[in-house]
Amino acid sequence: MLPKFSTIRPSSITNALAVLDEKGGRLHGGGTDLIGCLRDGVLSAETLVSLGAIEDLKGVAATSGGGLRLGAMTTIAEIAGDDAVNARFTALADAARVVASPQLRNQGTIGGNLCQKPRCWYYRGDFHCLRKGGELCYAYAGENQLHCIFGGELCFMVHPSDTAPALAALGATCRISGPSGDRSVPVEKLHVPPSVDPQRETVLDDDEIITEIVLTAAPSGLRSSYRKVRSRNAWDFAVAGVALALVFDGDTVRSARVFLSAAAPVPWRASGVEKAVTGKVLDADTIAAAAAAAVEGAEPLSGNAYKIELFKGLVTEQLEAISG
Ligand SMILES: Cc1cc2nc3c(=O)[nH]c(=O)nc-3n(C[C@H](O)[C@H](O)[C@H](O)COP(=O)(O)OP(=O)(O)OC[C@H]3O[C@@H](n4cnc5c(N)ncnc54)[C@H](O)[C@@H]3O)c2cc1C
Ligand code: SF4
Repeated sequence: MLPKFSTIRPSSITNALAVLDEKGGRLHGGGTDLIGCLRDGVLSAETLVSLGAIEDLKGVAATSGGGLRLGAMTTIAEIAGDDAVNARFTALADAARVVASPQLRNQGTIGGNLCQKPRCWYYRGDFHCLRKGGELCYAYAGENQLHCIFGGELCFMVHPSDTAPALAALGATCRISGPSGDRSVPVEKLHVPPSVDPQRETVLDDDEIITEIVLTAAPSGLRSSYRKVRSRNAWDFAVAGVALALVFDGDTVRSARVFLSAAAPVPWRASGVEKAVTGKVLDADTIAAAAAAAVEGAEPLSGNAYKIELFKGLVTEQLEAISG
């Protein structure tokens, strides 16, 4: 059952920060994740601070340097349909198009997508697991088919956002406002691994707000993509995913940024893949070496060894597609 709470709708970022300072409360973007968390008792809140009336947080705009600025309250549907995102940052458009369902994409925002809570079924259920302040990870020796193969330590969930690995591959940066001013954090540093703190998902403090995500100008020769595999061909979270951002010089890969989704508790940088393809033409041998590198060092749990072949296949197919 949904607990009682009050909602405040400040009209500016300054007012929102003042409300957070005076009353505390939880930020409400589109509410598609937050309301479920409150209903299921994963989170509690007496006050929600809705960002829906702050016009400065909405929309996609060009930056003076040829990049794009995505207001944190821009909906996932707006990002999926934006011409500039589709033309220059394909991985982000690909990722936005496969988030949830059309209704959720119309309501959910990019800020909320990056800050959504874990989907681990123990965490979402009645289990007081380690991430919720308890002492045990129930997934480690329990049902862990959808859990991580990299970066598991204390907690073995997988980070659920589709847009985060795409934005990380594209080298995007979050602008964050808080009581002591503004700061920038690269998306690839936004999420906190359990080895650092298993009860924290992002580096944000409770009184901080993501205001925008900035993509710098796409370098010439950039080709990018995101693809996820899910259990069924309808709305669902990734079982495995890969975001590629490769800069080509003719047929040769000049530089590469590669992140896996549903592999680890944070978007997982596949540095082995990056090394395997940089300076190379994407022929069959290079792609085979990159696919093997994608899963090097993986530590599957009792129920998810299938992810090894899945990631190898996915990386192979996506590298073949991007080379053509
Ligand atoms: C059935 C279902 C299927 C889904 N499928 C997918 C999927 O396939 N892929 C995927 O990526 N996601 C999926 N989601 C998760 C979610 O709906 C989306 O990620 C959505 O984009 C969240 O955005 P929101 O604005 O609704 O977030 P909210 O629910 O409003 O917020 C989520 C969290 O982020 C915080 N927050 C919101 N905005 C900010 C901000 N500007 N600064 C700091 N913190 C903020 C909130 O306090 C809250 O903790 C699914 C959800 C459901 C219910
Ligand atoms: S994987 Fe993480 S979220 Fe899931 S039960 Fe273990 S500690 Fe909790």
